[in-house]
Amino acid sequence: MTTETFEFQVEARQLLQLMIHSVYSNKDVFLRELVSNASDALDKLRLAALRDDAPDADVSDLHIELEVDKDARTLTVRDNGIGMSYDEVTRLIGTIANSGTAKFLEELREAKDAAGADGLIGQFGVGFYSGFMVADEVTLVTRHAGETEGTRWTSRGEGTYTLERIGEAPQGTAVTLHLKPADVENQLHDYTSAWKIKEIVKRYSDFITWPVRLLPEPGGDGSDGEGAEAREAETLNSMKALWARPRDEVSDDEYHELYKHIAHDWRDPLETIRLQAEGTFEYQALLFVPSHAPHDLFTQGYQRGVQLYVKRVFIMDDCEELLPPHLRFVKGVVDAQDLSLNVSREILQQDRHIRMIQRRLTKKVLSTVKDLRTSAPDRYATFWREFGAVLKEGLVTDSDNRDAILAACSFASTHDAEEPTALKDYVERMKEGQDDIYYMTGESRQAIENSPHMEAFRAKGVEVLLLTDAVDEVWVDAVGEYEGKTLRSVAKGEIDLSGTEADKSDAEKEKQGEEYAGLLGWMTEHLGEEVKEVRLSSRLTVSPACVVSDAGELTPALENMYRAMGQ
Ligand code: ADP
Ligand code: MG
Repeated sequence: MTTETFEFQVEARQLLQLMIHSVYSNKDVFLRELVSNASDALDKLRLAALRDDAPDADVSDLHIELEVDKDARTLTVRDNGIGMSYDEVTRLIGTIANSGTAKFLEELREAKDAAGADGLIGQFGVGFYSGFMVADEVTLVTRHAGETEGTRWTSRGEGTYTLERIGEAPQGTAVTLHLKPADVENQLHDYTSAWKIKEIVKRYSDFITWPVRLLPEPGGDGSDGEGAEAREAETLNSMKALWARPRDEVSDDEYHELYKHIAHDWRDPLETIRLQAEGTFEYQALLFVPSHAPHDLFTQGYQRGVQLYVKRVFIMDDCEELLPPHLRFVKGVVDAQDLSLNVSREILQQDRHIRMIQRRLTKKVLSTVKDLRTSAPDRYATFWREFGAVLKEGLVTDSDNRDAILAACSFASTHDAEEPTALKDYVERMKEGQDDIYYMTGESRQAIENSPHMEAFRAKGVEVLLLTDAVDEVWVDAVGEYEGKTLRSVAKGEIDLSGTEADKSDAEKEKQGEEYAGLLGWMTEHLGEEVKEVRLSSRLTVSPACVVSDAGELTPALENMYRAMGQ
């Protein structure tokens, strides 16, 4: 059959160049990526079989196989999983499917030098292409389970790849790396060494739920008198689900490797959360808070949710029913003992136990974040920077957990130019006689601070929360008060700061009112439709006048937001 040559997409080419010329010190992770893909492919096939979607597939001995050929200087990673059709190879391997990669390349262009690029490889998952860190040629042979025809893909990573339809191919995918001579000669990077391979698999892929087998080398050294046929493949991983092992037996590194596998992230998570429920509805959960927000967290297509397992069997990625939208950044695994393996999305949506799990996970994540604030302020600060705006959505949508969410929240404040504050701390600092919690919403901290509305507060030293996320406009209304203190916008309605300090006496105010009555009346009349009323204000110290909304009205920023949403 014919072999066709194709060009890589521009982005893919850039990425490959980076891999080929990589000086990335931790090349070993290429194997983790290939094993991770193989494991995903096996999960997908088992699931298809459970659903009777793969009638012609062989699911009798699903596994991952590693094979080394020292003479040919190759390492092959083989799985008998779902495989790929010809079209899928074109779509998934010839282009950059992983959406995080676009961002990666953008940052790469900015990084320019090798050291910068090195750091970036460590941060972004580049999956399949990472093979080119150690190989000068990669061949992939695959057959989609149930199909008859296979596909061979090869590339030297340089700008083109070839595709060929082949008649015979085992079910699943085999990726063969033609290792760079320089690596093989260097003991540290000799990926034809059984010892090296065992070490990498143990370190990065031990928890993979499928056996990862190392085939005996053909011929071998024969010193023990046994022929190659007599020796058996060795399973390198323990296959133990981390969430089912006692906590003190699992190291942080092991948890982190699992996180990287399921989140397709190369960075360590910020926080690991474990949860076990026993009794009538038994389940284990292992949740992770990532250390970085994905770039598409606020887009429609964002795939939220955690992985669902039933009795150790992978059932689905992105199970949305297990966590509410405002915790959509959380990744992880929930393994339930008492669900059917055939459980469908429809069933999940109605299942009472699933709702119970969701409630419990939500509380646990919120309390973990709250505790971080005191136990690890730096990590809490990272959390807040990355996910605060998402979490605040819960103040509007999740009234059951409102207090817990508020306790996990921080707000920029005039109290400190850098550090955001907890509401609790704001309340503690409130001035004698101050009844309300003041805030102002706006585009940016600077815009708010320059607003005339802030003058009186600054002059009197009354603290104001500075809220700059779109969602802030909404939650302040939904929440209304905190510990009996009203949340009050400094830009709405009448502001009375007189209680906070010695102020103009009532008599004085009355006198002023009389004095200016004529002017105010005249102004109100002349501004006509533009304003409702012109009145004397105690909120200004320097500016002559400012525009204020009625207490119940939309602020200008919210008006803009609704307008932008087309309402
Ligand atoms: P990711 O795993 O993050 O999606 P990769 O670059 O590792 O990104 O892989 C790209 C895609 O190629 C995978 O999502 C999968 O669809 C496909 N793929 C890669 N390896 C295999 C494999 N061994 N079997 C089946 N499909 C695979
Ligand atoms: Mg991958």
